[in-house]
Amino acid sequence: MQVSLGDKDRVFILTGAGISAESGIPTFRDAGGLWRNYRIEEVASPVAWRRDPRLVWNFYSMRRRVAAEAKPHAGHVALAELERQLGDRLFLCTQNVDDLHEQAGSQRVVHMHGELFKSRCDSCMKAPFDDRNVYELPNALPRCGCGGKIRPHICWFGEIPFAMDRIALELEQCTVFVAVGTSGVVQPAASFVAACRERARTFYAGPEPPANEAAFDQWFPGKAAEVLPSLFVVA
Ligand code: NAD
Repeated sequence: MQVSLGDKDRVFILTGAGISAESGIPTFRDAGGLWRNYRIEEVASPVAWRRDPRLVWNFYSMRRRVAAEAKPHAGHVALAELERQLGDRLFLCTQNVDDLHEQAGSQRVVHMHGELFKSRCDSCMKAPFDDRNVYELPNALPRCGCGGKIRPHICWFGEIPFAMDRIALELEQCTVFVAVGTSGVVQPAASFVAACRERARTFYAGPEPPANEAAFDQWFPGKAAEVLPSLFVVA
């Protein structure tokens, strides 16, 4: 079975941590993963930032080191190729903060949870900027010219994800929704499929069924690098 796409179809793709797993970036729930040395509430919230910004930067520096080594796989490449075929009829929304989709050639990726290789000031309105540095103890915290602290450009727990207006519009317009490697637990992404399933065909690709499996028309079991290269047939 494959997903056939006609010339009127608009495709919304939602990717999660699972698509990065075969590139060597552990998923959130992977018990052996890089998260086990940190309690997530101590490193990924505005409260954590106020309490201990150095610990927060230690965590994101570690994630930058891991992500800097990662290379995209055949699944990322397949999505970049699909974008070349469909143009702006493909909307690629990722919950991931790594840059594997871009490395594979995707041009228009929406990072709803932010980008690991960008930073911004926590005080002024200066735009987020490219930043691949690591800021680990005992080094000083990076500072903005305004005196504020430079923070990771990440949507933390309790913050509003990026580009939600654009995402809502694309969910209204899509005729095909495909989620890849996401557990169906983390909101608001877990509700996207329910928002469009009345009008759109809905598919999930990943080794296990997601928690919101009932909202999908069909599950394609398997790893992203195995399933995605042959998933789509473009008319
Ligand atoms: P999750 O960790 O909750 O779930 C991962 C999902 O991926 C699971 O359903 C699992 O079955 C599936 N999976 C595992 N290996 C796979 C493979 N090879 N191919 C396809 N699927 C596979 O991830 P989530 O639902 O995306 O939510 C976790 C949160 O953590 C998100 O907010 C995300 O931003 C963040 N996160 C991001 C990264 C990253 O940027 N690479 C990594 C870890 C976590």
